[in-house]
Amino acid sequence: MTVVAVAVTVGFLVGPWLRTAIFANRLPRGDPAHGHCPHCSRLVLASGDLGIVGPVALSGRCPSCRRRIGAPPVIIEVVSAGVSGLLALRVHPPLVLAALVWAAAAGIVLVAIDASTRRLPDAVLAPTLVVVLVLLVVAGLVDHRSSELVGALIGGAATFAGYSLLALVTAGLGFGDCKLAALLGLVLGWFGWEPLAAGVTLGFLLAACYLLARMVIGRFSPSEQIPLAPFMLVGAFTVLLVVA
Ligand SMILES: [Zn+2]
Repeated sequence: MTVVAVAVTVGFLVGPWLRTAIFANRLPRGDPAHGHCPHCSRLVLASGDLGIVGPVALSGRCPSCRRRIGAPPVIIEVVSAGVSGLLALRVHPPLVLAALVWAAAAGIVLVAIDASTRRLPDAVLAPTLVVVLVLLVVAGLVDHRSSELVGALIGGAATFAGYSLLALVTAGLGFGDCKLAALLGLVLGWFGWEPLAAGVTLGFLLAACYLLARMVIGRFSPSEQIPLAPFMLVGAFTVLLVVA
């Protein structure tokens, strides 16, 4: 239970940094509004993308106009703590758990950004891919889990290739989705082919259900771009929590 308590605590404490990452990466770095309040245009992140984790991040409100610029207090922290705790209950090798907790934390940031601006920024995806890859490679070598490691590497490459092919023939998929697919393929592939196939399929099924629901309530338009990352991440982590 100690590991679960540590995971919950760490998950809660990184919440403010996740808030800052969400706000800092909503817009591309070159955008004039980058780092500024979308309502009053005040510069909120004065010290670069890492920003200062303070009352701004914690309240989710602009310090100048007090309007909402992020999630309400404690929401991000509770989600992060909950996912980290659940992962710690199910996943035991410490390095693999660390890789999944990092991927989940980045996933929270990506879901929030994709849902609001339809972006999956490299500033979040690239370091996450590197950290998760390094942790899994070290876990594979240290714990003599070469078959899991090979599964992860092939899983990451296969999902990336599959999504890239889909992106070429469909308009709804972006290159960010392909990179996220590589990340999810890595972590799912560690646990085997069946979890990999189940996680990817569940992501597509959830997205299809969402589209169907929008059709039923008459809010669907063929030109509409839906954010895919939330469904990919929920599908993958649901399967991870079940099979790990
Ligand atoms: Zn403001």
